[in-house]
Amino acid sequence: MSSTAEGIASRYARLRAEVPAHVTIVAVTKFQPVEAVREALAAGVADIGENYLQEARAKFAAIDAPVRKHFIGHVQTNKAKALASAFDLVQSVDRAEAGDALAKAAAALGKRLPVLLQINVSPSERFGCAPDEAERLADALRAHSSLQLEGVMAIGPITEDRSAIARAFDLAAAVFGRVGGSTLSIGMSGDWREAVAAGSTMIRVGTTIFGPRPLRPASKNPVT
Ligand SMILES: *Cc1c(COP(=O)(O)O)cnc(C)c1O
Repeated sequence: MSSTAEGIASRYARLRAEVPAHVTIVAVTKFQPVEAVREALAAGVADIGENYLQEARAKFAAIDAPVRKHFIGHVQTNKAKALASAFDLVQSVDRAEAGDALAKAAAALGKRLPVLLQINVSPSERFGCAPDEAERLADALRAHSSLQLEGVMAIGPITEDRSAIARAFDLAAAVFGRVGGSTLSIGMSGDWREAVAAGSTMIRVGTTIFGPRPLRPASKNPVT
């Protein structure tokens, strides 16, 4: 095993031991090279998350191990077809148009696509449906037989104020209670403890597993 592999495997093992067993860990692989993804899968990672369609497709083509693929980036309606085909779950549906486009794409593929409704609980976050509009969006998503609404996703605020983070996650949990479902996807490397305390069932973690992220996708880095 290379030293990198040991690094990823032991970091993942440490995290898995610390996070309660009922909480799913999605390893966020954006900008990480395919070798790092393979090492994570060999270490027992069963769920991976990607933000960018093109980068994700290139990596998925180079992976044979079975893994659940989560889309966690912004859903562009013109990419709905490719997203519905490349991913097992789309976590970031934040408006009815995105749901409509994904539903149409999933129906054409003859599949029922699991989705989460992304809500905005943070002033530092650009995307996500307003918390008080979540139930209406949930109704719109549930009206599509080719979508399976499984719960709520949110990104915490970028701040050192731990109580502000906890408040944002409590709001996400309250919205999750109204929307329903089995999955509350909140918590990243810097705030998963607050998220778990608020009731997270799924955390999305990159840096803690892989170390600092390259600034761009591996394919765009100059070969050195
Ligand atoms: C990048 C990203 C993560 C992981 O962030 P880390 O701080 O590296 O754990 C989680 N969720 C989303 C939506 C992201 O874009």
